[in-house]
Amino acid sequence: MNDCIFCKIISKQVPADIIYEDDYVLSFLDIKGLNPGHSLVIPKKHHENIYGFDTETAHQVFTIVPRIARAIKQAVQADGINIGMNNELAAGQAVFHAHIHVIPRYANDGYQLWEGKPVSKEDSQIIAANIKKAL
Ligand code: AMP
Ligand code: ZN
Repeated sequence: MNDCIFCKIISKQVPADIIYEDDYVLSFLDIKGLNPGHSLVIPKKHHENIYGFDTETAHQVFTIVPRIARAIKQAVQADGINIGMNNELAAGQAVFHAHIHVIPRYANDGYQLWEGKPVSKEDSQIIAANIKKAL
């Protein structure tokens, strides 16, 4: 945790372009954003990923996301906004302090959305049942 780059941004040991801060949440520009205005929203409490979020942390972090999205859209005149969160290596997580990406998008910015693959009705029913059981 002491080596966590985002904790260092929270404690102002490392500079960042901060766009929002309250007692529990910080938001700042991504250093290598997909488009200008790409921002990250993080809990000040160090969580590696989303799995450990208590209800309070989830509330504090996710409540601010629509407001940040609206502000980014207006500030950079985006055509759209992607909200994303990478959890664990397999999902592309590189910084292990939980963060939500708020990414401005343009009709012709050249990025593709990931493509889905069809799942059979039978498999879908089993998967849905298993997820419901795990909830
Ligand atoms: P992820 O793959 O979801 O873990 O993404 C981590 C994000 O953090 C990447 O988009 C990086 O560009 C961004 N990032 C890493 N270090 C910094 C930093 N010091 N300031 C701002 N953004 C950063
Ligand atoms: Zn941290």
